[in-house]
Amino acid sequence: MKNTYQSARGVRDILPDEQPYWQFLRRTAESVFEALGVSRIDIPHLENSEIYTKAIGESTDIVGKGMFTLVNRGDDEAKNTYALRPEGTAGVVRAYIQNGMQSWPQPVKLYYLGAMFRYDRPQKGRYREFYQIGLEIFGDSSAKSDFLSIMSAWQILKKIGLNDVIVYTNSIGCPKCRPKYVSKLKKYLKNKEGKLCPDCKLRIDKNTLRVLDCKEEPCQKATSDTPVILDTLCPECKSHFQNTLELLEYFGIRYDLDTRLVRGLDYYTKTVFEICEVSDKTRQNSLGGGGRYDELVSMFGGAKTPAVGFALGMDRIVTLMQENKVDVPANGGVDVCILQLGEKAKAAAKKIYDILSDESVNVYFVPSNDTLHSQLRLAAKLKARIAIIVGQTEAMKDEAIIRDLSASSQENLPVKYLAEEVLKRLQ
Ligand SMILES: [Zn+2]
Ligand SMILES: [Zn+2]
Repeated sequence: MKNTYQSARGVRDILPDEQPYWQFLRRTAESVFEALGVSRIDIPHLENSEIYTKAIGESTDIVGKGMFTLVNRGDDEAKNTYALRPEGTAGVVRAYIQNGMQSWPQPVKLYYLGAMFRYDRPQKGRYREFYQIGLEIFGDSSAKSDFLSIMSAWQILKKIGLNDVIVYTNSIGCPKCRPKYVSKLKKYLKNKEGKLCPDCKLRIDKNTLRVLDCKEEPCQKATSDTPVILDTLCPECKSHFQNTLELLEYFGIRYDLDTRLVRGLDYYTKTVFEICEVSDKTRQNSLGGGGRYDELVSMFGGAKTPAVGFALGMDRIVTLMQENKVDVPANGGVDVCILQLGEKAKAAAKKIYDILSDESVNVYFVPSNDTLHSQLRLAAKLKARIAIIVGQTEAMKDEAIIRDLSASSQENLPVKYLAEEVLKRLQ
């Protein structure tokens, strides 16, 4: 057998069969965001890698082991390395500052859709190139924006037919109150050190909070009576979280407190959340998550700006849509297909094609010598709603047959009335 080329390890093609799900998800997200006054932003897939080491932290898995870096080819920035974006937030924060959005009317609300890259060990449902939908809201410190983030993620999932989802949420405090908790937790964990997994032993000093969301069973057991961060929050963090929860309750968003939820990234403050299917008890397959990151803009050299956001994992969501047999709208198809028989008819058909194209009708016409039957089959395949048929007789009389392909009814019409009739039927 001949050797053929294969896609690279950990990446894949998304074939036409799957596309209606992706398209439905993208369009739903776009309409939810637009209804909330969120603007789209496209940021590069490549950034200087330092924005990720700075934002996400070198000690995290994403940057430590998971980032694809590319070496520059000796141009004037040769000292920098590029990275393929492993997530969206850092790039959007960079863009917010670089483009002077701090002087725009606040809050600035931005969303993005696109591919991210992580050097994970490939496994079922996890890819090295994966897709995210994300939202970032800058310049509002109130709980309204935390709520708006959670609510828009929730709405997207609802509108694509995933109804059994739940939001897990926690507050991880601010630079004023978190250190108190971290030192309390550190003390507690030192006593349990022997029972923790090797990763967590290292985390006690380097990344204390992350011990809480370790998925290893011994760690979960050993820390079952761990001190709860909500007890140590400062009054400001406490009331902020309270307000967020009240809004969730008011709008009927299903949530649960999870005092172990800390999220993997260093930059979060106050509210953090994760969205899962209700049935996913182990929560290995979260659909997305996010949180507040009030310190990140200033860490990047901008003026201190409160911010909050989330990202949803599109790959996982599409899989779920397929598993749940979610009804997705059929792909558009063409509106009108022009069929013709004979040389005179070809010229007449071309004239009709020009008229309809000028009216911005989505019309398909390629002159062929195929039989009417096979042209009709093609029209069905293109999912055309209307067929316009021109034979020699019709061409002579300057007429055409207009056929409704779903109702299979047809009538003759003079060409000059055709455009008007087509537009009426397509409404
Ligand atoms: Zn606080
Ligand atoms: Zn552990």
